[in-house]
Amino acid sequence: MHPSLEQLHRLQGLERQAAALRADIDAVDKRRREIEAPVLDARAALDALNATIEDRQAQRRAGDRDVASAQQRLTKFKQQLMAVTNAREYEAVQHEIATVEGEMKVREDQTISLLFELDELTPQAEAAGRTLADRQDAAGVALAGEADETQRHRLELAAVEGSIAVLRPTIEAGALAIYDRAAKRYPLHAVADLIGELCVGCNVKNRHMITSEVRRGEKLIQCENCTRLLYAIKAAPGQAATPVRRSVGEGGAPPGT
Ligand SMILES: [Zn+2]
Repeated sequence: MHPSLEQLHRLQGLERQAAALRADIDAVDKRRREIEAPVLDARAALDALNATIEDRQAQRRAGDRDVASAQQRLTKFKQQLMAVTNAREYEAVQHEIATVEGEMKVREDQTISLLFELDELTPQAEAAGRTLADRQDAAGVALAGEADETQRHRLELAAVEGSIAVLRPTIEAGALAIYDRAAKRYPLHAVADLIGELCVGCNVKNRHMITSEVRRGEKLIQCENCTRLLYAIKAAPGQAATPVRRSVGEGGAPPGT
């Protein structure tokens, strides 16, 4: 085994671990939003109910003010009624009184229906408040669990990134450049297992001359077809002719092959 190839194989393993951890951390953000969604819904429902209640209470206060002012006008007209001097004036004032009494009746009816509505809205808002509190509790527990997991993943990621940072400078520059070029084309799959003569990366057989050079391990050899770096795996007895497609390099390579 070429010493740089062994290092590159390890580097690829570490980069895969880092990628998996980053994916986990990203997924947590999505799960966090999913956990928070029912809380946001409950809060929106409660806010809407409270806004309706405030609106109806404002309408009620406006109605009370209108009734009070109509009351004052009514008192004034009744005093005027005492002072009329002829039937025409009397009729005119009576007409004003009837108009104001009509307005008051409409306003009072509105107030009564507002009170009925408020009687229904208040328990609804209380129930919505309890739903919100329950959902906040449940989400709090779930989010704490997620936070622990994310923290664990972040620590693991920092450790893996540390290992990568230590390993890379120890790899011979030319070998690292070949790896990085191949990794651009095949992210996390620049090094492919070679089983028998088959490159597991592209599933194409290489010539015997190539594969025996890989096994000699004197230099880095790339697949003739896909240019991945070939990493020789010793096939299990009887398996050489029919290699199984497998997850490459994830702890699969027995050391020293
Ligand atoms: Zn290949």
